[in-house]
Amino acid sequence: MHSKKYFIANWKMNGLKKDLIQISNIENFFKKKINFHNLLCVFCLPYTILGLVVAKLKLRKIKIGAQDVSSKSSNHGAYTGQISSKMLKDLNCKFTIIGHSENRQIGETDNDISIKIGLAVENNLTVILCIGENLKEYKNNQSFSKVKRQLYLNLKKNKKYLNKVIIAYEPIWSIGTGIIPQTDYLNEIFYKIKKYLKKEFNVDAILLYGGSVSSKNMHQLKNIHLCDGFLIGGASLKSKNFIDIIKKYYS
Ligand code: PEP
Repeated sequence: MHSKKYFIANWKMNGLKKDLIQISNIENFFKKKINFHNLLCVFCLPYTILGLVVAKLKLRKIKIGAQDVSSKSSNHGAYTGQISSKMLKDLNCKFTIIGHSENRQIGETDNDISIKIGLAVENNLTVILCIGENLKEYKNNQSFSKVKRQLYLNLKKNKKYLNKVIIAYEPIWSIGTGIIPQTDYLNEIFYKIKKYLKKEFNVDAILLYGGSVSSKNMHQLKNIHLCDGFLIGGASLKSKNFIDIIKKYYS
């Protein structure tokens, strides 16, 4: 397990100008609580407010990230609607999510994801690569074979970039449902994922859990032995909920 603990917020298609206060509340919380020095907090925001956050909040404790990156180029060009890793770097963005199940479900392929990882790392972004099985695969005991295949297809051409890739295991059936897997199941799959990444790619990967993380289930989730942190969707939108998760984790 890595000594650093990651608390990564995914705001998805949420966040208006008025919501910047949620992020500054959390920044202020970290400024007062010096005992969280091993914690790394990242907010993955919609493109529309990334620039605003940089210009207005002058964050020191929180890093910012995007939720996707272009598969067309790491630079610039005639690609309507696309945002490149260079444009994100220009905003001082250090992270991006890639391969979220919500994007995979609307057509993003493993090949797209593989290309995006390379293009993101070219501009020094750290990638948060999301993997996970759906409910049918879970019920058929196919969870590990599913995530193993995703990892292989997404990473095999990115071997030289693996020190810039964090993995987020997110069972699709847990995202936004309030349901989380049993601790024994999570311990087993975390062990298998880390073992696979070591054997196949010789990497000691940072591995996060995502799916309905909240302060109410943190007592259970903090017992995943090999877990290096969390990717948090709904519960990251309000500063109080996000702060409560962190307090519960460290209590
Ligand atoms: C996510 O979509 O990455 C996620 C973890 O969402 P939620 O916490 O809302 O389940």
